[in-house]
Amino acid sequence: DILQDTVKAEDTIKGVILRYFNPIGAHPTGIIGEFPKGVPNNLVPYITQTAASLREKVTIFGNNYPTSDGTCIRDYIHVVDLANAHIAALNWIENKPMHTCEVFNLGTGKGNSVLEVIQTFEKINKAKVNYEIGERRNGDVPVIYSDVTKAKKILGWETKLSLEDALMHSWNWEKSLRNK
Ligand code: UDP
Repeated sequence: DILQDTVKAEDTIKGVILRYFNPIGAHPTGIIGEFPKGVPNNLVPYITQTAASLREKVTIFGNNYPTSDGTCIRDYIHVVDLANAHIAALNWIENKPMHTCEVFNLGTGKGNSVLEVIQTFEKINKAKVNYEIGERRNGDVPVIYSDVTKAKKILGWETKLSLEDALMHSWNWEKSLRNK
């Protein structure tokens, strides 16, 4: 709202609002990735640190949600796809008039459950992830995924990388950190 109001009020501003879903993954080279301070809050760094034996196990926050396997569903987007969306957005806004302001969802358009993420990680990386089912976490919504129609149509952007790619790249990154 603040961005939209500012763009409306100022004659020298235009903007694009990018609504991230769940960014995961790392650069495919294993040179750039995320490095959470202390205990990770997010699912994927918790998984990679558990597979690397830094953490004992992943606690799945609830398996009694109204979803296919009972665990929450999120729209996980590879960070490289997300970076490319920024380039597409900058190219799009460049020749637009001042006061332009558009919001775009950046996601894959589909959701995966927590269990699916863990199992996909194990399969693609041939690595074991200890996990247990725990209590629900306060504030978690059962299912969130994006409608990416607008980003596709207007920015000409869509994701190219898969959940498997992202989980493979996250694992490469974690391993490269531990081998330094
Ligand atoms: N999650 C989990 N265990 C963890 C961390 C996350 O089960 O240790 C679940 C969380 O309940 C959510 C999903 O994984 O359904 C993604 O959580 P994250 O914190 O990565 O992102 P959020 O969707 O909350 O922004």
